[in-house]
Amino acid sequence: AKSRGRGQVCYFNNAMRRKLKRQADIENDLQHGIKNDEFELYFQPIFSLQDPHIVSFEALVRWHHPKTGFVPPNDFIPIAEQTGQIIDLDLHLLELAGAQLQKWRRAGMPTIRVTVNVSSRHFASLEFVDFMKEIYTKYQLPNGTLCLEITESGLIENLSLATRIIEGLEPLGVKLYLDDFGTGYSALGYLHQLPIHVLKIDKSFVDQLTQKENPLVDAILSLAHSLKLTVVAEGIENPKQWALLKRKGCQFGQGYIVSKPLPADKAMELLLKHTEM
Ligand code: C2E
Ligand code: CA
Ligand code: CA
Ligand code: CA
Repeated sequence: AKSRGRGQVCYFNNAMRRKLKRQADIENDLQHGIKNDEFELYFQPIFSLQDPHIVSFEALVRWHHPKTGFVPPNDFIPIAEQTGQIIDLDLHLLELAGAQLQKWRRAGMPTIRVTVNVSSRHFASLEFVDFMKEIYTKYQLPNGTLCLEITESGLIENLSLATRIIEGLEPLGVKLYLDDFGTGYSALGYLHQLPIHVLKIDKSFVDQLTQKENPLVDAILSLAHSLKLTVVAEGIENPKQWALLKRKGCQFGQGYIVSKPLPADKAMELLLKHTEM
């Protein structure tokens, strides 16, 4: 037993070493990857639960790494958050989203809103407002077509500055989506002070709806209703979840039941198909 114990320690050390090596590699490769154009945005539809028409797309990053191939966002976003590289990555992805919106418009495609996930780190400097203004101008974006998703933690640390930044974005029509709502450390006490527009109910709550109703979902919906916030339920995979959320007054949804995140061309094809219906 003793030697096995030692072996395990050794095993964990190796696993840990590999993990650290992988983290260091990702950290090194990220900056290069931005320059090398290795990141691509996929688009997942957000739809009305009443009649399933598509109302917007969420942009989700995909990394095509030249050596290791596809790297999922959960493998590098948290690392980029830690190292601070998330700032450059987010700004790059906002550029990509702006460029894609302009490309669709120039091709005569229907105008659609795209939401981009950004770190709450941006909400610590008014420079971010200028950056967003530049993107709107550079890609001639109609008001409100490029919006943002943020998680609640981080915003609260500097509530008054975050509020000024969000208000600074208002002339552009930039709506703020509060992501993963209900998980982790909650902004509940601050929610009424934050000038956000949309709550995204985290997938973990929606998952549970397959088994039985969840009173927390009712609570989130009634909270949103009294604060006059729109609600999007994430990760809808089956009709039971859809029906339940719809019955409870949730307006919008997102999930594999309509579509996985798709490359830009495929996402637009899907939108056109839905528009014809
Ligand atoms: P998120 O913002 O909560 O995004 C939703 C995640 O759930 C996405 O995973 C999406 O593909 C997945 N999803 C959507 N519908 C379903 C469903 O019905 N079933 C299941 N099983 N999954 C579903 P993805 O693309 O792997 O992204 C993971 C996370 O990485 C995101 O969570 C977000 O926090 C982060 N992320 C992704 N793209 C970006 C980005 O461009 N910038 C930043 N800062 N973070 C990003
Ligand atoms: Ca999101
Ligand atoms: Ca989310
Ligand atoms: Ca999530």
